[in-house]
Amino acid sequence: MKMVTTVAEVRGWRRAERGRLGLVPTMGALHEGHLSLVAAARRESDRVATSVFVNPTQFGPSEDLDRYPRDLERDRLLLEQAGCDLLFAPGAEEMYPAGTETGIDVGPVAVPLEGERRPGHFRGVATVVMKLLQIATPDRAYFGEKDAQQLAVIRRMVRDLNVPVEIRACPIVREPDGLALSSRNRHLSPEERRAAVVLSQALNEAERRWREGERHGEALREAMRGVFAREPLARLDYAGVADPATFRELDLAAGPAMLLVAAWLGRTRLIDNRRLG
Ligand code: AMP
Repeated sequence: MKMVTTVAEVRGWRRAERGRLGLVPTMGALHEGHLSLVAAARRESDRVATSVFVNPTQFGPSEDLDRYPRDLERDRLLLEQAGCDLLFAPGAEEMYPAGTETGIDVGPVAVPLEGERRPGHFRGVATVVMKLLQIATPDRAYFGEKDAQQLAVIRRMVRDLNVPVEIRACPIVREPDGLALSSRNRHLSPEERRAAVVLSQALNEAERRWREGERHGEALREAMRGVFAREPLARLDYAGVADPATFRELDLAAGPAMLLVAAWLGRTRLIDNRRLG
């Protein structure tokens, strides 16, 4: 595996390599969730490139940019073992040279839920993903369903701006107790780690109610809130029931729907979701 830090090196590599390229954008501190994307890219492509870049423009001023876990040497070893061909690990100056102004104007899909709690977040995500797509020019790019609204924002952007790439979605990888893998999980104290299972338990409970026939958005939200109310170490940020394409909150989950939760465990904010139907 080759590791590079500049845009010019990625472009040079891309010109020299033949075949279909799969790109896996990440912020590093890799875990089995990320590696499942690399494995999917490996199965479906001739060459696999992974980017590791903690993108400052997707963090708000009061968010955890400085605290975000970084472990590039370990990431390099994991990617090497996973059969990745290129690791692109740029610095912030390489991705955002002084004077950078332009960004992606994300649409209504980026407004509710995460968009409402994290103003500017999806603009930052969409902009860095667009840049990575322009730099690496992959045939396919791989994203996790863990970040469901992000995936919807990127699908929308690629369609609206005619970006010649196929967006591939991969299922959420979980711990045996149900906690979705996340780089931020390593911040959890042992007590917080035990309590963090409440996110997936809340989704389980709402999904159970849905299977029994409950379709009212508010009843499903209330079911999730009820599970959180029993876990004092977790502070619920939101429990949403939304349309999987637009992410607008649903009064009635008549067709396909997404259950979405965000919650604080101490200083660590985690998200999870479940697709219904
Ligand atoms: P991140 O490094 O957190 O920005 O994530 C990079 C990519 O990995 C995103 O497309 C995420 O949705 C995906 N990802 C993160 N955690 C998981 C997980 N537990 N299962 C599947 N994909 C994941």
